[in-house]
Amino acid sequence: MNTDVLVIGAGPAGSVAGSLLAQKGHRVTCLEAGTFPRFQIGESLLPRCNDLLEEAGLLKAVVARGYQPKNAALFLQGDARERFCFAEVFPGQRTQTFQVPRFDFDQTLATAARGYGVDLRFNQRVDAVEFQPGGGAVIRSTDLESNATEQIQARFVIDCSGYGRVLPKLLNLEKPSSLAPRIALFTWVEGDRRPEGAEEGDIWVCLHPRGAWIWIIPFSNGRTSVGVVMERALYDSVSGCDRDRLMSLLREDPNARARLANAVPVLKTMKLEAWSSAVESLHGPGWALTGNAAEFLDPVFSSGVTVALESASRAAALVHRTLQGETVDWNTEYGAVVEKAVGVFRVFVRTWYTGELPRVLLHPNKTQAIKRAITAILGGYVLDPENPFVRNPEGTLSALLKLS
Ligand SMILES: Cc1cc2nc3c(=O)[nH]c(=O)nc-3n(C[C@H](O)[C@H](O)[C@H](O)COP(=O)(O)OP(=O)(O)OC[C@H]3O[C@@H](n4cnc5c(N)ncnc54)[C@H](O)[C@@H]3O)c2cc1C
Repeated sequence: MNTDVLVIGAGPAGSVAGSLLAQKGHRVTCLEAGTFPRFQIGESLLPRCNDLLEEAGLLKAVVARGYQPKNAALFLQGDARERFCFAEVFPGQRTQTFQVPRFDFDQTLATAARGYGVDLRFNQRVDAVEFQPGGGAVIRSTDLESNATEQIQARFVIDCSGYGRVLPKLLNLEKPSSLAPRIALFTWVEGDRRPEGAEEGDIWVCLHPRGAWIWIIPFSNGRTSVGVVMERALYDSVSGCDRDRLMSLLREDPNARARLANAVPVLKTMKLEAWSSAVESLHGPGWALTGNAAEFLDPVFSSGVTVALESASRAAALVHRTLQGETVDWNTEYGAVVEKAVGVFRVFVRTWYTGELPRVLLHPNKTQAIKRAITAILGGYVLDPENPFVRNPEGTLSALLKLS
């Protein structure tokens, strides 16, 4: 079988890349190893996602699902709290986004992508990709139900396989992340005591008294995602099964304890560890990596889906031009741009864990200009040259730290 573009994986990156290219008239085949709906972590979006979903023609389908609107990110430590409201960003930037149960969100995007003509096939695992000297690639996949194998010839391969990291493994592109490994325990609960009105959908990020942090992400279906991210030493210091450890850590934090006093888990507690990943190169002749198949840092600023959509959208635009016969400078137009976006978040993540960034975020006397610049980053606008944190993330942060 022949196709123009082979997309590996139907997470958010795969659906956005596939939709954009199918709408440009390319034959797009997307092979997804799983079947939907399926659980996936990564439930809090950033406003920038909404721009990218709209550009890909997917926002209408998402809005129709009635997800919980998210207007702000609230950081809490004991009695200190600071709310970063997306209404206070730069002109033209979105002021709202959604909290999404991913089983439903990913299925919604995948169905809409099929509506644009993407030949999306579930239960099909990509096992091997061979790039041909004259261009294009041969992809070998397995039907996980019948065990039949198939061979597909494609002019371009976009790897959107997320944690599967298909091309980084096949092409030996993996390199160690600069971030230390951590553990997350998480579940969904019912009975969360939420704030009312416009603050109901805020993500809460609580700085735990023992150096961990907690997320609280409310959904419109009455359930709430809760998780704790910690170093292994803290995980080992708490006894019991993972549910008991999670609940006990949540009770140790005064803000989570008050909010979740009557909450009961409705999902088996899940554990993930050492998720940070990086690669030697984001693209090569006939291929590009997007989303988590490229680089993933850390969940603390909910940047994963935003980076996945940003990279997928940019890769799709360049694949279109490449297939039209244009000479595209992938280094400048893709590699450098994705690295810039990830790089801004990387500075935020690194200084979050050194304890420097929380001092800035929770500082009570920030100027309006500084607060707006931080809010825009927390909204996912990490490529806006107007923002001092984009122009010079390290320098701007260290200047603020001296002041605070
Ligand atoms: C603890 C934790 C909390 C997080 N919280 C957030 C958050 O609140 N907000 C946020 O934005 N991000 C969050 N993230 C990050 C988020 O999970 C990812 O960044 C996001 O899912 C990446 O999307 P993607 O499309 O690149 O990949 P994925 O969502 O991983 O989708 C990839 C798809 O590819 C398929 N696949 C894999 N291998 C193959 C193969 N060989 N053949 C065919 N298909 C394949 C998979 O089945 C999957 O469906 C969190 C991450 C962690 C670890």
